[in-house]
Amino acid sequence: MMGKVLIIYTGGTIGMTKSSKGYAPADGDFEDTLKRIPELYDSQMPSWELIQLSPVKDSSNMDVHDWNRIAEMIENHYEQYDGFVILHGTDTMAYTASALSFMLEELSKPVILTGSQIPLCEIRNDARDNLITSIVIAAQGVVNEVCIFFGGSLIRGNRSTKYSSDGLIAFLSPNYPALAEAAIDIQYNYPQGIKESHLPRQLHVQYLLDVPIAVIKVFPGIKFKYYTEILNHNFRGIVIETFGAGNIPGGAENIEKAISAKDNDTIYVICSQCPAGSVSLGQYETSTILQNAEGVSGLDMTTEAAMTKLYYLISKGYERSEIIDLMEKNLRGEIRSD
Ligand code: ASP
Repeated sequence: MMGKVLIIYTGGTIGMTKSSKGYAPADGDFEDTLKRIPELYDSQMPSWELIQLSPVKDSSNMDVHDWNRIAEMIENHYEQYDGFVILHGTDTMAYTASALSFMLEELSKPVILTGSQIPLCEIRNDARDNLITSIVIAAQGVVNEVCIFFGGSLIRGNRSTKYSSDGLIAFLSPNYPALAEAAIDIQYNYPQGIKESHLPRQLHVQYLLDVPIAVIKVFPGIKFKYYTEILNHNFRGIVIETFGAGNIPGGAENIEKAISAKDNDTIYVICSQCPAGSVSLGQYETSTILQNAEGVSGLDMTTEAAMTKLYYLISKGYERSEIIDLMEKNLRGEIRSD
């Protein structure tokens, strides 16, 4: 039996039209746009209803407040529907998916984010398939977590990253296998029984505070002395995107000096610029300085997951030491658990 699905339209290319300034979301009734996909109204389709964010946005303009609004829409409609499809721009979809995966505590229904690289208003588009299959996946109820469905694959939301700005397979999950592939049938590769083992589950939404968080990408020759103010004063948490397994330039300009210049409460999470693999602090001399500076290993987490996990743990009101501990623990499948 297929469940009933709520589609939440938030904006993105899927519903955009061409304006004098380029593609932009049109604030009208999105159901009119959906009429371009007659199959949606076919009797074989699971039943669905549509609501939309106001205003709808290019996802580049989204932030914590939008994540809170989307989570609130899910919370307000949670009992009436069996699954949720969030139509979203691709640019920050991996961030929203990661954030929601933490915010929606005790989730026991599918929440599928999708969108498209080509708007529905174009004859040739990827919106149709992405949307129809996402609705079916949400109605089937096999996955009970936040995912992205795009270009034929269903991937865990907090393992996803946008990989292509123009290809129709726009997202990858480099450190975790796809949860399903859309072939003739939808072939799930999903551990059954998760739902049962955690019953009863009552959704609780942890809304996020707009605390200052930063991401810094290191590069050869970076001079940390220019970052001292940022590293020490301005942020509650900083994700540092390092080389390879967590390596960072050392020498006189090293980060340890910059970080320990002042006592502060900032939490430094070490992620890698490599999409695949894991951070391994202490493997090289060039990462030992980060261990000495109390850097928290992001292991195999994406930057998107690490950043939104910081928002989540800070918003929950944990102490600094608890946050440091939980950053390395597996909360929603976002990080490897050895
Ligand atoms: N800029 C658009 C957005 O993220 C890109 C897209 O949807 O593909 O909203």
